[in-house]
Amino acid sequence: MNAESLAEKHGSMPSLNKVIASFFEIDKVCLMHASNCHKGEIMTTQEDTYEGGCTCGQVRYKINSSPLIVHCCHCRWCQRQTGTVFALNALFEANHVELIGGEVSEIVVPSPSGKGQKIARCPKCQFAVWSNYYMGSIKDLIRFIRVGTLDNPDRLPPDIHIFTISKQPWITLPPDDLVVDEFYDYEKVWTKGNVQRREFFLKSATKEAFYAVFVKSGSG
Ligand SMILES: [Zn+2]
Ligand SMILES: [Zn+2]
Repeated sequence: MNAESLAEKHGSMPSLNKVIASFFEIDKVCLMHASNCHKGEIMTTQEDTYEGGCTCGQVRYKINSSPLIVHCCHCRWCQRQTGTVFALNALFEANHVELIGGEVSEIVVPSPSGKGQKIARCPKCQFAVWSNYYMGSIKDLIRFIRVGTLDNPDRLPPDIHIFTISKQPWITLPPDDLVVDEFYDYEKVWTKGNVQRREFFLKSATKEAFYAVFVKSGSG
């Protein structure tokens, strides 16, 4: 199904969608749902389901996706912010992380890039459930889920150890694990399918901005 027929299936503005689709050269995207929907259209990986939450139980979240990658970060910031030796973060598209209980409160703290990290915490027990890093162009598009807040954290071991330049010396990493001194190139490390997912959500975000500026304002 192409973008035009998919847009017609969703019911309105087929010609407008055709224009947007050709502008962004998108052929398998649900335009009417913008980036909140790509079930069955672009996903090349099998969807998994994860649930988790804070320690008091007020904040609960659900994820219908597989992670883009799982980082084990040994940077000093993560050590300080977790009060321990590393942070284990699973990266998911933000629109795949659904808050199913409570609300989160967000604060911005320093990060290795200098651009800051936004941490989402339970306002009651103050435990952090995820972060957004302002690195590269991903901004708010990816949530770094703190793996320890999953109901079953054993499901997501690390895919890569990053910032091992500041790894605490007593930790011995598994010999076959992927290890980098600092950070890495997405396209060389992520699976091909997940690189495509990244391109898709970046494109979707651009499309949403375009839609907001040129379509919503234009249509009054
Ligand atoms: Zn809580
Ligand atoms: Zn870190």
